[in-house]
Parts: sequence; structure tokens; C-alpha cells
Amino acid sequence: MVLQVLKKPMLLRLRDPLTESERDSIFRLCKELGYSYQFRAGSKELLELTGGGAPSHRSLFEDLTGILSVVDNGQARELNMRPVGGPDLVVEVAGARFGGEWAGLIAGPCAVERADRLQSIAERVKAAGACVLRGGAYKPRTSPYSFRGLGEEGLAMLAEARAKTGLPIVTEVLDPRDVDAVGAVTDIFQVGSRSMANAALLTELGKSNKPVLLKRGMSATVREFLLAAEYVLMGGNERVLLCERGVRSFDKVTRNLLDVGAIAHLKRVTHLPVLADPSHAAGRRDLVRALARASMAAGADGLIIEVHPDPGEVHSDGAQAVSFEEFERISADARAILKLDGRRLSQAEVAPRSDSTAGGGARKSTSSLKVD
Ligand code: PEP
Ligand code: MN
Repeated sequence: MVLQVLKKPMLLRLRDPLTESERDSIFRLCKELGYSYQFRAGSKELLELTGGGAPSHRSLFEDLTGILSVVDNGQARELNMRPVGGPDLVVEVAGARFGGEWAGLIAGPCAVERADRLQSIAERVKAAGACVLRGGAYKPRTSPYSFRGLGEEGLAMLAEARAKTGLPIVTEVLDPRDVDAVGAVTDIFQVGSRSMANAALLTELGKSNKPVLLKRGMSATVREFLLAAEYVLMGGNERVLLCERGVRSFDKVTRNLLDVGAIAHLKRVTHLPVLADPSHAAGRRDLVRALARASMAAGADGLIIEVHPDPGEVHSDGAQAVSFEEFERISADARAILKLDGRRLSQAEVAPRSDSTAGGGARKSTSSLKVD
């Protein structure tokens, strides 16, 4: 019985009719990958494979034109896939926990612009229940002429805010060449929507020992999103946090269309934590709270929210920044919704300290899922 479970075959749905060349290519690939194969009784379309299986095999089969879909992965499960009946992965960073019974609030400005402002925002959002501080030092702007962040100066401001408040940090890395410099400061790497498909960046982050908050590309399907995560996972970095931030739509009422269905779906198909970014989905502050509530109700393991007390002074995403008071309401909502599900809000536990670095480089030294 146990053996039967281990030998669960992969099932391929083939095109009908199938050309001879397509069929030969499929059979050849089966042999190359070490599978034996046979058609399911009475079917010309369902090919059953028996053999070891590997995560990479699913995509190799999907690339062949004769194969409509991989119906069942058998043992060829990709790393992003939740093992059948398997638990959520809980990603923990300095006391902030995402997944399982835990959810976390990430909050802060869109971009790091002023040290004093960042500091006061960090203190206020922490008091309101945030467990991670957000803020971009390298900003991926649609126009190259827009404010593109303070770079290293911004990283230094983030390090200072972390040291003073004890809040761990998430900040975006845009370029594979910056992974070490950003990783020396940040606790979590953010990969933005515009970079989701940057294979070179994802591969580099796969070598890191710090978690990666991966945003869904604005036009990416859920499958493309999961395969982007796969790039990081296959490098050995198991701690990927997925983030739904809205997709392009025909309507301009909101900046993007928050895909609540994708949040609920992802919670089923992957063990990775799933966060939501209602700020970039809404694009306007009056809707952020409603979208935050919807995301948490759909099962999100956390939220990332842009907060600023004076949006008139900022150079990036001011229209969607919520006030401290609104963030407090969002935090209270999240607590209430989590309680309904038997879940909890996590809190950062890093003691504020006087030095201003996040502690160490970004390269992997352990396969543990926890970080100091
Ligand atoms: C951001 O978080 O400020 C950002 C640029 O988000 P996104 O990549 O989702 O557009
Ligand atoms: Mn932003």
C-alpha cells in the first residue's frame, strides 16, 4: 500500500489527434526521464507514467506541443506545491511570523525619503501592531524620470530605523548586483511586481538565507507567479512569501484589480505564506481598508500597507498612503478577522539596539527556516 503511494504515477493529457512527431517526442522524453508509460484503459488521451519523478519534469512535459496539460504531478511535484495534506510553512523573521496560525502586518512608506519621517512612521506603525517596516530605497518606477529612490542612503536610513525600533525591514532589490548590499541591511528582500519575471534576480535570491517577499507581476497568471517562486526555491531558499498586489484590468476605478480569488486559491495549492498588498491594488487611500478586510477574510497570512502622515510631501504613491489612524483601524480589523479563523497577529521581538546594521551578509549559511 505504502509502495503504491510512493509510486503514484504522473498523468498527462495529450492532444487528440496527435501527430506522429508529437507522439514520438512525448515517448522519447518519457524514456529520457526514466519513466515507463502506458495509456489509461480505453483512453487515447490520458498517458500514465510510472517512475521516480522530479520537480523539473512537469515543465519539461508542458513545453511539448502534444501535451495539453499535466493532469497529475505524481512524484514530480514542484517545490512551490503543497504536499497533499501538508501544513503551512511558517516564515519567521525576528519574531514576525507569517503562515499557519500567524499573520503579520508590514507597514511603512512607499519609498524612504527622509530619515526623521521614516523613524516616526516606524514608531507609529509598530505601536499599531506592525511587525515589519517597509520602505523602498531602490524604486522601480514606470517612468525613468520619476523619483527612483535614495539607494544606499535609503538603506542606511532603514538600518537606523531598524536599530532604533527593533522592527525588521523589508525593502526592494531591483538588480542582482545589489543583492549583497541590500542583504546586508534588510531582513526580507522584496521583489516588485515589475521584477517578478527577472530570472537572474530570482536565481541570485535563491542563494540567500533571507526570506523573499515576491509580488505577483501585474499581468502574471497564478501559474507564472508560482513558477517565479520556484526559481528562488530551487536555489535552496525555502522562505518565499507570495504577495497578491492586484492585476491589470480594463477598469480604472482602482489602480489594479485585487485578485481575492487568487489569495484563496494559493492558500490551497501552496504551503508558502500568502500576503496581500491592498495599497497597490486600490491605488487610492479610501479603499485600502476595505481591500485589506477582504484579503484577510480570503485567508491572507498578512498585509503590506503604505502608511504616511503627510502624503502631500512624498514623491511616490502618495495617493494610496493611509494615515496612522486608518492603519490602526486596519490593524484592528485584521485582529478581528484572524480571531474568527482561530489565527493570531504576530509581533516583532527584536530588541532595539545601538548599532545600525541588520546583522550579517545575505548568503545562505543554514537551511533552517528561522532566522535569528
Ligand atoms: C511598492 O511596494 O512600493 C511597489 C513598487 O509595489 P509593486 O511592485 O507591487 O508595484
Ligand atoms: Mn508603492
